[in-house]
Amino acid sequence: MRCSFLRPVAVIGAGFSGSLLAIHLARAGRDVLLIERNGEPGRGLAYGTEDPLHLLNVPAQGMSAFAEEPGHFLEWLMRQDQAALGPLCPAALPTAFAPRKLYGRYIQANLAATPGITRLAGEVSDVLPLAEGGYGIRMAEGGSPVEVSAVALCLGNPPPSQRHAPPWIFGNPWEAGALDGLSPEDDLLLVGTGLTMADLATTLLKARGHHGVIHAVSRRGWLPLPHATPMAAPIPAPELREGAGPRHIAQAMRGAAAQALARGLPWQAALDGFRPQIQRAWRGMSGPERARFLRHARTPWNLHRHRVAPEVGRLLGEAVAAGRLRVQAGRLDRWRPGPDGVEAVIRRPGGGEEELAVARIILCTGADTGPDWLATQPLCGLRDRGLLRGDGLGLGLDVDPDSLRALGADGRPVRGLYVVGPATRAALWEATAVPELRLQAQRVAAELATA
Ligand SMILES: Cc1cc2nc3c(=O)[nH]c(=O)nc-3n(C[C@H](O)[C@H](O)[C@H](O)COP(=O)(O)OP(=O)(O)OC[C@H]3O[C@@H](n4cnc5c(N)ncnc54)[C@H](O)[C@@H]3O)c2cc1C
Repeated sequence: MRCSFLRPVAVIGAGFSGSLLAIHLARAGRDVLLIERNGEPGRGLAYGTEDPLHLLNVPAQGMSAFAEEPGHFLEWLMRQDQAALGPLCPAALPTAFAPRKLYGRYIQANLAATPGITRLAGEVSDVLPLAEGGYGIRMAEGGSPVEVSAVALCLGNPPPSQRHAPPWIFGNPWEAGALDGLSPEDDLLLVGTGLTMADLATTLLKARGHHGVIHAVSRRGWLPLPHATPMAAPIPAPELREGAGPRHIAQAMRGAAAQALARGLPWQAALDGFRPQIQRAWRGMSGPERARFLRHARTPWNLHRHRVAPEVGRLLGEAVAAGRLRVQAGRLDRWRPGPDGVEAVIRRPGGGEEELAVARIILCTGADTGPDWLATQPLCGLRDRGLLRGDGLGLGLDVDPDSLRALGADGRPVRGLYVVGPATRAALWEATAVPELRLQAQRVAAELATA
């Protein structure tokens, strides 16, 4: 039964996190206002790509949106016709890495099948606390604030940087024109060698037949690692001891990976076995330990934990071997416009520089969740009113790890203000992928269902 005497809950952002939260709330009988600025609820940044070569980095059998129905996505996938599945073979669907755009359609189909969700297209510019409790949602497009009883910020990942402007340097690799106007012969420079670089390189190499050199540079110059083929089930990991710091965790993981390899099993299966313990281990770390982990272990962690589909790994490896993708360790030190584009200077870790003449530079350095993000609306208004604060590690927003309520300037959970999604990383660390985010959505919905 719908609780229509309560004002609706506003869910701001309709990527995976916001959509799932809205679905759970509506199922629990709450009226929901789901607000999305990009006009296509359900897809968000990750599943909004139209490129069929951008694949999920988890096999279909692990991507159910609902923890209690592990086969949900797979069953949906099996009901799609071959035209939708493209080259995917129906018999191999459980272990297939499906195109991300199909996953976006799956979330959209679930939204469409859930009554009780009112959609509002537009950008939220401010969230105002009301004297009688609840919040007013102000839209950038204008009009009176919409009154709601509670708010969930499901804003996802901000782009890497808003400071750089095209045409020479693109701070946001996801913006529509990032690859426009490039000729297939152009050399270009991607800064960052992780999953975003992998997406861009895949589009360039496969979809656009690019044959200029794609330079990719990052501090360590590591290419994303692929999942094992064939995939192996996670190997149950030894219990991490209470209060285990980053050094102990790294040792335990290295030991488990070595044992797996000695038994002829992939190291990936050993690492996956630790995943259920990671949030607990992170929560047990002190502030300085977390900072130390970020300083020393963040890049190796991301490399081993966030892997690409085997076919993407193969494509990147072949491009490196053919000299079409040139990956090196270093950092972009400076650049200036040149006669045919940009002259970029790469500083190598051990000293020395290399100058590259490229058509453009695209930053693939990941989300910029630091102070710049907090200075954007609707976050800065909430922060200025003491209802929100950064987490101190530059990972996102400070939240209570149990309730996911935002922590205000005084460090106390704020009534009726929740955060769901990757912005909760500082509290939980594992807060990026579907298996964790679907639980966050469920948890917050359960709390809000009766609030
Ligand atoms: C490229 C990429 C690939 C990924 N692949 C996988 C994968 O294969 N498997 C996996 O498990 N995880 C994957 N992930 C992890 C991913 O973070 C999560 O799966 C999930 O998509 C995060 O969803 P979200 O809703 O929290 O954020 P987002 O998808 O970023 O959605 C946030 C939404 O909020 C909207 N928004 C922001 N501000 C406002 C505002 N002021 N007003 C209105 N709307 C607003 C945005 O427009 C956006 O649609 C991937 C991530 C990326 C970036």
